[in-house]
Amino acid sequence: MRPESRHLLLVEDSPDQSELILRAFRRKNPEFKITAVENGPACLDALRDATFEAVLLDFSLPRMTGLEVLSQIREQGMKLPVIMITGQGDEAVAVKAMKAGASDYIIKTKNYFETLPMVVENAVKKHRLVTDLEEASSRARRLYEVSLSITKERKIDVLARTLIRGANQLIKTQGAVLLIVPPDQPETTVIFSDGVDIQAGTFNGSIASAGLFGSAYLEKRPVVIEAVQEHSRWGATPAHQPFLRQILAVPLLQPGEIVGGVLVVGNKLNGEPFSPEDVDTLSTLTMHAATAIDNARFMAEMETRATTDGLTGCLNHREMQGRLDQEVERSTRYGKDFSFLMIDVDHFKLVNDSHGHPIGDVMLKSLVAVIQKSVRTVDLLARYGGEEFAVILPETSQAGAERVAERIRKAIDESPFTTPSGHPLHLSVSIGIASFPTDANSRLALISAADQALFSAKNEGRNRIGCYSKTPVSVLENDQARLMTLLEDPTLKGLADLAAGIDARTPYFRGHTQKVLQLGFKMADALNLSEPDKQNLQLASLLHNIGTASIPESILNKWGPLTLEERRTIQAHPLLVEMLIKGSDRFESVLPAVLYHHERYDGKGYPKGLRGEEIPFLARVISVIDAYQALVSVRPYRPRLTREQAILELKKNSGTQFDPQLVEALVGLLEESSEET
Ligand code: GH3
Ligand code: MG
Ligand code: MG
Repeated sequence: MRPESRHLLLVEDSPDQSELILRAFRRKNPEFKITAVENGPACLDALRDATFEAVLLDFSLPRMTGLEVLSQIREQGMKLPVIMITGQGDEAVAVKAMKAGASDYIIKTKNYFETLPMVVENAVKKHRLVTDLEEASSRARRLYEVSLSITKERKIDVLARTLIRGANQLIKTQGAVLLIVPPDQPETTVIFSDGVDIQAGTFNGSIASAGLFGSAYLEKRPVVIEAVQEHSRWGATPAHQPFLRQILAVPLLQPGEIVGGVLVVGNKLNGEPFSPEDVDTLSTLTMHAATAIDNARFMAEMETRATTDGLTGCLNHREMQGRLDQEVERSTRYGKDFSFLMIDVDHFKLVNDSHGHPIGDVMLKSLVAVIQKSVRTVDLLARYGGEEFAVILPETSQAGAERVAERIRKAIDESPFTTPSGHPLHLSVSIGIASFPTDANSRLALISAADQALFSAKNEGRNRIGCYSKTPVSVLENDQARLMTLLEDPTLKGLADLAAGIDARTPYFRGHTQKVLQLGFKMADALNLSEPDKQNLQLASLLHNIGTASIPESILNKWGPLTLEERRTIQAHPLLVEMLIKGSDRFESVLPAVLYHHERYDGKGYPKGLRGEEIPFLARVISVIDAYQALVSVRPYRPRLTREQAILELKKNSGTQFDPQLVEALVGLLEESSEET
C-alpha cells in the first residue's frame, strides 16, 4: 500500500543538523512533508501512528543507536526504506547498517544534506520497484494456483466458489460475484458471491438484464466502473448495495465467443482505482474459468449419460445394480430393512401393436412421470429394462413397501393417459415386492424374489401387487391335494421339510423340490407308471436336491462363470445323498434315480457319464422335470423363461441332454395344461 502524501520521518538528535536537512528538502524537494523526532523510541512510536514513505535515521542517537532502531523496525515487519546517516570515519558502521536492512547510507561530509533529497528519492524508487516486482510475482503465483485448482475441479458449484474467493484475494477486493448462464436455460442466471451479501441461486432473467454486470456480458470485454452509485444502470444490478463504490466486470468467453457468464469484483481494499494489471489478472482468470466450467459441464453430462436411461431419465439398469449393492451394504451395517419393487407394464405389447413402438416409448415416459410422483425423493426409480422398472425403497419394511406399491398401481390405473395424437389410453402395471433381509439376503436374491412376486401378481390377473412372502410356492403345475396326501406320511413330511429347508438356502431354489414333486405326479400319470414306480419317483423327487446342501451358497448364488474347482464341487453334490441314505431299506432302492439325475442322454453328464438307457429310467424322468423347473425359475446368471421358451429349450436338447420320449411326454403335459389356463 502506498502513502497518499510524500511523508518522511527524520530521526536526528541534533537540532542544528535537523534544521539543515529540513532546509535542504524545502529547497530541493518541497513536496516531501517531514516529521522530525530526536531519538529511537520516538521514531518507533511515530512509525506506529502514521504512514511514512521512508525514514532518515541518524546512527549516533541517545538511548538507542541507529542500528538498534533499524533492527527494531525490521523485526516489526515494516518494509519501508531506511537511509542511515553516519559520522565521518564510520564506514564500517555503514556496512553493518546495510546488512541490517538499510536501503542506503550517507556519510556526514561537508554539505552532505544537499545530496540527501536525491538519495532518498532513489531509495524510494528502488523500494517501489522491488515491492512491485514482489507483488507481481506473488500475484502470478496465486493466479496460477487458483487457475490450477479450478481447472481440476469437476463440480460447478465448488469451482465457482473457488473462483470468486480466488478473484477476491488476487485483486484484493471486498467482494466478488459470479454470474453464470445455464446452457439449458439461457433466460436465467445462476449467481454465486463472496464477501457480498447476495443470496446464491438461480434467478429469472438473463445476465443481459443484470444492470451494470450486463455491460460486460453484452460488450464481451472487461468493464471498469469507478463510481457505480452514480451510474444509471446501478439500480438494476444484482447486489447493488450502498457500500459498493467501484466494480471490475469481466466476461467468461467460451468457444465461439459465447459469453458463459460474468465475473465481477468490487471495492479495492486499498481504495485505489482498478489498474490495468487488475484487468489483465482477472481476464486471465476468467479465461481459465470458462474452460474449467466447460470441462466440468462436459464431465457432468458424461456422468449423467452413464448412469441414467436415455428415454425416461430414470437410473439405468447398471446404476440400479450398483445402488442396490450400496443399499444392501448400508442396510446390513445399520440393521435397517429396505424394500425393492419390480414393476412390469401389463399387456404392453398391445400398446405397441395398436399404436406403434414410438408411441409406446412416449407412453413409457408418461408412465415414469406418474411413478416418480408416487414415490419419495429418497426412493430410487430405475428402468430395469424394456417396460420393466425397479424401485429401491430405503428404510422401508414390507408393510411400507406394500403401501407404496399400491399407491403406484392405483395412480397408474387411474391416470388418464393420452397418446400424442390425443387418443385416450388405459395403462396398468403389476408390481412384485421383496424386502431385505426378510425375503432375501443378497442383491441378486432380492431381485429374484421381487421377480417371483411379480410373476405371481401377473398370474393372478395383472393390475395388482404381489408380495414375495405371500407368493404361493407353485403357481403353475401345482397339485396341492396329492401333495397333502403324500405328506400325511410323517417320514415323507419330515423329508419334505428337510428338502424345503435346503432349497431355501438360496431364493433360486425356493420351493423347487415341491414343484418337481408335483410335476412328477402328473408325469407319473402321463407315463402310466406302476404304483411302486410312482412311489419311488416321489421319494426320489424329495431326495434329489438334498445333495445341494454340500454346495456353498457363494457358488449357488454366483453370477459369473464358475471355476473348475467350483464346477467340481457342484458335480459332487449327488454323492452326499448316497452317503446319507446308504443302508436304509426304505431309501436305498431309489438311490440310482437320485444319484444319476444329472447324467445326460449323450453321456456327457455327471457323476458317471452314463449314456442313454444306461441311465436309470427314473433318473431320466427327474432330469427332465428338474431342468424344466430350473428353466422357468430365475437363476443368478439368467432371467426366468416363459413356459413356451422353456418348452423350446427342452425340445432343443432332446436326444442330447434328455431322453426324447420323456421330453415328448412332458411337453405334451405342459401344452395340455396351458390350454386349461
Ligand atoms: P404382460 O407383461 O402383462 O405379461 O404383457 P406384456 O405385453 O407387457 O408382455 P412382456 O412384459 O413380456 O413384454 C414386454 C413388451 O413390451 C415387449 C415389447 O413389445 C414391449 N417393450 C419392451 N421395451 C420397450 C420399449 O423400450 N419401447 C416400447 N415401445 N416397447 C417396449
Ligand atoms: Mg416385461
Ligand atoms: Mg409387460
